Amino acid sequence: PTNQNCLLVIFGASGDLTKRKLIPALYALWRNGTLPESFAVVGIARSDYGDEAYRELLYDFNPSAYDEDASKWAEFSQRVHYLSADSTKAEAWPEIERRLCGLSQQYKTGDNVLFYLSLAPQFFEPVIRHIGQSGLVTEGRRYCSLTPERPWQRIVIEKPFGSDPGSAVKLNQVLAEVFDESAIYRIDHYLGKELVQNMMVLRFANSLFEPIWNQRYVDHVQITASETVGVEGRGSYYDSPAGGAMRDMVQSHLLQVLSIVAMEPPVSLAADDIRTEKIKIFKALRVPTASEVPEIAVRGQYGAGAVSGVSVPAYRDEDGVAADSQTDTFAAMKLKVDTWRWGSVPFYLRSGKAMAEKKTEIVVYLKPTPHVLFREQAQKLKANQILISIQPDEGIRLRFEGKVPGPGMQIKDVVMDFDYVKQWEASPPDGYATLLHDCIRGDQTLFKHRDEIECAWDAVQPVIDYWHNNPQDDLPNYNAGTWGPSASDIMMARDGRYWHNF
Ligand code: NAP
Repeated sequence: PTNQNCLLVIFGASGDLTKRKLIPALYALWRNGTLPESFAVVGIARSDYGDEAYRELLYDFNPSAYDEDASKWAEFSQRVHYLSADSTKAEAWPEIERRLCGLSQQYKTGDNVLFYLSLAPQFFEPVIRHIGQSGLVTEGRRYCSLTPERPWQRIVIEKPFGSDPGSAVKLNQVLAEVFDESAIYRIDHYLGKELVQNMMVLRFANSLFEPIWNQRYVDHVQITASETVGVEGRGSYYDSPAGGAMRDMVQSHLLQVLSIVAMEPPVSLAADDIRTEKIKIFKALRVPTASEVPEIAVRGQYGAGAVSGVSVPAYRDEDGVAADSQTDTFAAMKLKVDTWRWGSVPFYLRSGKAMAEKKTEIVVYLKPTPHVLFREQAQKLKANQILISIQPDEGIRLRFEGKVPGPGMQIKDVVMDFDYVKQWEASPPDGYATLLHDCIRGDQTLFKHRDEIECAWDAVQPVIDYWHNNPQDDLPNYNAGTWGPSASDIMMARDGRYWHNF
């Protein structure tokens, strides 16, 4: 698409996400010449700043994001404006419209507007409704990706997208009243990660992997996103009824990663074709019954402990956390994808805070050979693994068995390593830059379709409901700095498997 001129309107512009991620990502895009000439940003929030004071706020928050050449930041930041207004209130909108119209004339961005909702989720609906009632959405409902020269209005919506199936459906309905699905960009920053996108290249640009990428050869798949930090002062946000690892991580990021691991090859790289295949996976997720939940899901909450020698207080001792909180700071779940390709292959997902190590990885475990030739070594033979490390140590590793040098037949597992940083002599780019650029050029490939979100909620809600209805009296059940509760290891052991921890 050629029509990339754009006025980017950020609601929640005084917040952490805007300062820490969005503006640095836009700056990086501008520095490498990716942004169109007709481009400007206007941040909106209630806090009282003028344009200059807002620019200083952004710079002072994270000077290292804007490199040593201060003149470049000065040049870029002239395109960044600020309006102090409460966008959740109708009375603020005449002024918002006036300002946006003025800026679109000043920067010659025409009617193209990218709205970015960087607000807490309770403000999504009122702001979407006000956008709809304003005169700003000229083409949103009729936007057609086949006519790229027409003006466009798009909306980016942050997570969390709903807190259960009902609220997600309702939010989708409110969005649909104002925007066509082709103009709605439900962002998931995991999909901006280079190694997640590389999954598609690994699978579909090579003939090495795809022939074994199915239930005949794959024993099971593990997807882990572990953090070493606890809630660190954000207890009141995390301990809310909509918080917890199952909602915050498994339902959103980990199921997205699963869908890319599990999807069929798309007929083309067009966004619609890729999303069609992802949607099929979401529709194929087996929804557990309440009676299955204790077998296939584990809840954890961290107690006091130490991460890398630094002591971490128990979750329940954090500010804003209830003394008897049942919130899951760790969640693990075994999922089945009911498709021809995956048959009985289980996908094990887990995510936790205050864990032993920070890592996000996918590990595909292959089945043993159909016949064991090396009988004397049989007990020692390990499963072949394809390990995709999303962060840190970005890369892809193949673990297989090799002969130990010397007489006799000693076998040991060895690793073949593609290290992203060594190979490309660069760190992976930030996901937000990739995703913002896609919004501006109108590529929805890496954004979630409404069906994906609604099916993802359906798959995890029985677990959330079961946990809600069955408080657990052994919480906290893991020490900070460990790999989570023993119940999660027991869940794996029941299936004769173990987590990939090291
Ligand atoms: P935040 O720091 O709490 O900022 C939210 C913004 O909302 C602020 O600019 C605040 O500005 C505005 N706001 C607060 N109360 C308001 C009210 N009553 N009416 C209107 N505006 C109000 O949140 P954030 O961390 O930037 O997160 C924004 C969104 O991104 C959330 O949906 C979050 O889940 C998502 N997200 C954040 C991160 C992250 O790393 N921070 C990562 C992924 C997703 P004023 O008080 O000046 O109005």
